[in-house]
Amino acid sequence: MTELRKLYQQIMLDHNKQPRNYGRLENANRDQEGHNPLCGDRLHLYLHVDGERILDIRFEGSGCAISRASASLMTAALKGGTIADAEAYFADFHAMTTSSPDAPVDTDRLGKLAIFAGVREFPMRIKCATLPWHTLRAALKGTDTTVTTE
Ligand code: ZN
Repeated sequence: MTELRKLYQQIMLDHNKQPRNYGRLENANRDQEGHNPLCGDRLHLYLHVDGERILDIRFEGSGCAISRASASLMTAALKGGTIADAEAYFADFHAMTTSSPDAPVDTDRLGKLAIFAGVREFPMRIKCATLPWHTLRAALKGTDTTVTTE
């Protein structure tokens, strides 16, 4: 767990300093807002989807370090992949963040996303980590209302 914690701090720092895929996506054909009232995180997610493939994905917003790093890592993981890949990542990420704090984490499957296993010890922060994912899901479904984690 100490290895994962060290990695967590490095990746959080890196993705907050230099968030990946940050900014508006001009040719987006899906976009979705998400809000986590518990923490005050706000996120705007943009996608350019062609058939089954996510050609591009970007985000904007203001939020805490966890929500920003989560959005950054999520967009990096999903860009260029298929919608089915995104759904599979969502399912694995959701299963991880809702498991008990000492449950094993599949780092092979989740890659860097596995660092968010650390939030399981802080129930208040789980919604910060999952906000980008819930926003993604709504964007892929094409709902119009703002997603909230409540
Ligand atoms: Zn937050």
